[in-house]
Amino acid sequence: MTTLEIRDLHATVGGTEILRGIDLTVSSGEVHAVMGPNGAGKSTLSAVVMGKPGYTVTSGAVTLDGVDVLAMPPWERAVAGLHLVMQYPTEVPGVQLHDVMSEAFAARGRSVDGLDELLRAEAGRINFDERFLDRALNVDLSGGEKKRNETLQLAMLRPRIAILDELDSGLDIDALRDCARRVEDLSNEAADSDHPEGGHGSLGVLIITHYSRVLSELPPDHVHILVKGRIVASGGPELADRLDAEGYTAFAPEEDLKVETGDDHAKPVERPGSLDDLFAL
Ligand code: ADP
Ligand code: MG
Repeated sequence: MTTLEIRDLHATVGGTEILRGIDLTVSSGEVHAVMGPNGAGKSTLSAVVMGKPGYTVTSGAVTLDGVDVLAMPPWERAVAGLHLVMQYPTEVPGVQLHDVMSEAFAARGRSVDGLDELLRAEAGRINFDERFLDRALNVDLSGGEKKRNETLQLAMLRPRIAILDELDSGLDIDALRDCARRVEDLSNEAADSDHPEGGHGSLGVLIITHYSRVLSELPPDHVHILVKGRIVASGGPELADRLDAEGYTAFAPEEDLKVETGDDHAKPVERPGSLDDLFAL
């Protein structure tokens, strides 16, 4: 059993406070949905928890089973069991999925024996075309294929807690179903599963989304509404239904919903410290 605890988290980007006191607790087997309008700080929350450069935590804490996550570099967070499925998966030319997986297995002390078979089996479960397994990571894949690829990595690595940032964006309905159901299965898998990484309990999920559609495939136990860097309401799945019926205006004043979104912060490459910067060196 694992617990990710986020306590009164405040964070700034470029001097502007984006997260203004977030409290969230996600444990093994639970599915939490964080829903919010554009610019609410959803991706910022996932970036701060994973340790993406360019974000400053000004107060608060993030712990995994009581261990300070904020003190760890991103790779240690991943090895400790945190995993992010990115809103915009990064293309990594020249690096194949197989290489990424064998390095990741090695970093976790797992044997790479049978890695190819496992990759093929997991690809089959989510209808990810085996032809793509030999391509450079995410290169020349459609939006939907990238998300299947991300889901495949999640299923291979068996993290303890997964953050899915808009898994549904860019996905057609079939891909959405395949990916969401795989995650749902992981969240239900018994702790004593025979998978080599089993034994630490089923996956805890923090799914970040704009729309409730994905939640019909991945039903949440808890729903939180994030507006302007704060959770303004928390409840059960009925909160998503209310949001569907009444919109975000039911939860926050109109002016809080019009967060300045700047130029294209939603776009992946221009952020300070993004992986793409590495290729500019
Ligand atoms: P969401 O994912 O909820 O749509 P984000 O977390 O991407 O929102 O963005 C929240 C706010 O933070 C937006 O106003 C956005 O413009 C701002 N922001 C995000 N990243 C940066 C950045 N690197 N530099 C400046 N502002 C940023
Ligand atoms: Mg976002």
